[in-house]
Amino acid sequence: MAVPFLDLGASVKALRAEFDAAISPLIDRTAFIGGEVVTAFEREFAAHCGARACVGVANGTDALQLTLEALGVGAGDQVITTPNTFIATAEAITRSGATLRLCDVRADTHLMDPEALRAAITDRTRAVIPVHLFGQPADMTAIRKIADSHGLHMIADAAQAHGAHLGERRVGTLANASCFSFYPGKNLGAFGDGGAVTSDDPDLAERIRCLANHGRASHTEHALVGMNSRLDAIQAAVLRVKLPHLNDWNEARRKAARRYDAMFEEVETVIPVSQAQGVQGVYHLYVVQVPDRDGLLEHLRSKGIGCGLHYRAPIHLTEAYAHLGLGEGTFPVAERLQAHIISLPMFPEITEGQQAEVVAAVKEFVSVSAGA
Ligand SMILES: *Cc1c(COP(=O)(O)O)cnc(C)c1O
Repeated sequence: MAVPFLDLGASVKALRAEFDAAISPLIDRTAFIGGEVVTAFEREFAAHCGARACVGVANGTDALQLTLEALGVGAGDQVITTPNTFIATAEAITRSGATLRLCDVRADTHLMDPEALRAAITDRTRAVIPVHLFGQPADMTAIRKIADSHGLHMIADAAQAHGAHLGERRVGTLANASCFSFYPGKNLGAFGDGGAVTSDDPDLAERIRCLANHGRASHTEHALVGMNSRLDAIQAAVLRVKLPHLNDWNEARRKAARRYDAMFEEVETVIPVSQAQGVQGVYHLYVVQVPDRDGLLEHLRSKGIGCGLHYRAPIHLTEAYAHLGLGEGTFPVAERLQAHIISLPMFPEITEGQQAEVVAAVKEFVSVSAGA
C-alpha cells in the first residue's frame, strides 16, 4: 500500500463548501488585493498567536527580508542563523544586504545551539534568526538572554511552527518578530503563496506593512523605497476558513508523532528528533536519523512511501553559498545530522494503518541492512 508524504486534498475536500462560500463573494466584488478579508485574517492570526500585531505579506521569505529591513539591518551588518534550515532563511538575510553568519545546532533537537550562537557573535552582529525547525520552537529563553546581552534583534523563522508552544506561550510571541509562511504544504497553508509577520511591537509591524506595500504611508504618499509583497484577499479568505481548524490539525499531527515514536521505540538504529522539555511542537515534519539514509530513501520510494530530505545539504555546502568559503567540517553537528535524516509521511489525516505500513517498510530495510 502506497503512503503519500503529504495529503493536501483531505482538508480541501472536507472544507470545500466553505472555501467556495468564502472566495465567491470576492470574485463578485472583484476584491482581490487588501480589504477587510485581509485585515480580518491579520486580526485573527494575531489573536491565535497571542501577538499584538500581524501583517500579511506575499510569502515567508519576504516576511524575513522585510523584517530585517524594517529593523534597519542591512549592508555592513551580520545576521546569524543555523545551517540546517530551508535556504529561504539564508536568502532573506543575503537579500537584505546583510552578511550571513551561521552557528551550529544541538544534536538532540536539531535546533540552534545557544552556546554556538554566543561564540558566533562579533561586533558587527545585529540580529539572530532561530528557526523553529520541523515545528519545534527553538530554545528562545536561552537565545533571548544572549541576544539581549549583545543588543541583537531576535527574529523567529516560524515558517514550520504555526501554533507550537514554548511553555504557556505560542510561537509568534517569542521574538521581536516572528515570520510565517502559508505555502500550501505548511501546517497552515493557503491556495498559493502567502506569509505573515507577528510582533508585539506595533511600530515595527507598521514599518513592515509600509515596506511591503511600495513604501506607502498613505494613499498618496510613498514614504520609503519599499517593494510589492502583499497577502492577497483570496489567500486570506482561504486562511480564515482553515485557521479555526489549526489546533485540531496540530493535535492530530502530535498524536501521529507519538504513534511513530512508540512504533520506533524498540528500533535502536532509528532515532526521532528529541523534543525539549516544556515544548509543544507541531510536527510540520516527522524526521528520524538512520545509519544508511540514502539506502532507506531508495527503499521507501521503491515501496511507494513518500519521504523527503529536509534538507539535502546544509546552507554552507550548497552551491548557492559556496562563496562563503566554508567547507565540510565547519558545522560538524549540522553536517552529521544532514547526512542521516529522512522525513517520513506526516499530515493530520494520516491513519494508524498508514503509519504501520511506513514503520514496517523502515524496519524491513533496517534489519536487512543490519544483517548484510
Ligand atoms: C517554507 C519556509 C520558508 C519560506 O517560506 P516561503 O513562503 O516559501 O517563502 C522559510 N523558512 C523555512 C524554515 C521554511 O520552511
